Amino acid sequence: MEKMILSKLSYEELIDYILSIGEKKFRAEQIFSWIWKKNARCFDDMTDVKKELRTFLNGNCKILDCKIKTRQISSDGTLKYLIEYKDGLYAEAVLMRFDNRSNLSICVSSQVGCKMGCKFCATGKNGFKRNLEAYEIVSQILLVQNDTNLKITNVVFMGQGEPLDNFENVKKAILLINKNLQISIRRLTISTCGIVPKIYELAKNELTPTLAVSLHSANHQTREKIMPVEKKYHIDELKKALLDYNKETKDRITIEYILIGSLNDTKECALELIRFLEGIKCNINLIPYNPVLDDNNFTRPQKKDMMKFKYLLEASGKKVTIRLERGADIDAACGQLAGKAL
Ligand code: SF4
Repeated sequence: MEKMILSKLSYEELIDYILSIGEKKFRAEQIFSWIWKKNARCFDDMTDVKKELRTFLNGNCKILDCKIKTRQISSDGTLKYLIEYKDGLYAEAVLMRFDNRSNLSICVSSQVGCKMGCKFCATGKNGFKRNLEAYEIVSQILLVQNDTNLKITNVVFMGQGEPLDNFENVKKAILLINKNLQISIRRLTISTCGIVPKIYELAKNELTPTLAVSLHSANHQTREKIMPVEKKYHIDELKKALLDYNKETKDRITIEYILIGSLNDTKECALELIRFLEGIKCNINLIPYNPVLDDNNFTRPQKKDMMKFKYLLEASGKKVTIRLERGADIDAACGQLAGKAL
């Protein structure tokens, strides 16, 4: 008989299950707390659960149904995990620690592979395998917490996959992260390449995370060349959706912009971006291109071009950061996740 996966159950479903096996409700409360708050790795960790029940759980249940296949450590302390799911497919999660901050951020995957085909992205190149269910997304956080014994404080959906292309599961995962793992919605970021109708839907969701948009060019033709999503959702439509997100949530949006040498890092590109962002409440994150793929002609931007680009945006009144690169030496940086089993 297949074992019951307890992290898949809501609190109410766990109570029903525990009552159905003839145990009292408070046992469900104990087990729930061990799984979601106290980082139990196995049922024997649950020391206040009576021995007979632990024996039953060992025989009939599992906490999770995925496992860590490999773990790589970058020279900057970033950890990249390859998670193996029950069907043998893999997705990655990346844990980032910043020495000067107490935050511990995890970047999670929402799909195995991705359909969006962005030209600078290793995930996009490998195609799409399947959506991850909500509990499979959240399992990445539980596994990494179990492995490190550290409490994750921030979650970003920037791993493999386009979160808004797996919207129902991602919405459920947001609830689990907020309610079960008790991570504030302020500390949760969803990154999208610009699935316009879903941005409107997310703005009306019960919980609205920070929205990060992978823009990478404010010019329709250039964007179309590097991001096929632009063919379906024109940048003018994207702008309307971002203004709506600002209005509905009152939150600032993060604009992600990968700077690719000579392609989108010129003065004209910066001025076009400034015009596009007029009226949008946002911060801008510039990301120097990581050379991931051998078969495109993209290059890293020169430092002086990057600084000029940043200066022009700042002069327009925007807050701009150049993203700290994390884990580039283990292919854990932006656009490098490809679900490779080692
Ligand atoms: S950048 Fe994001 S949306 Fe684009 S292909 Fe890669 S994973 Fe998919």
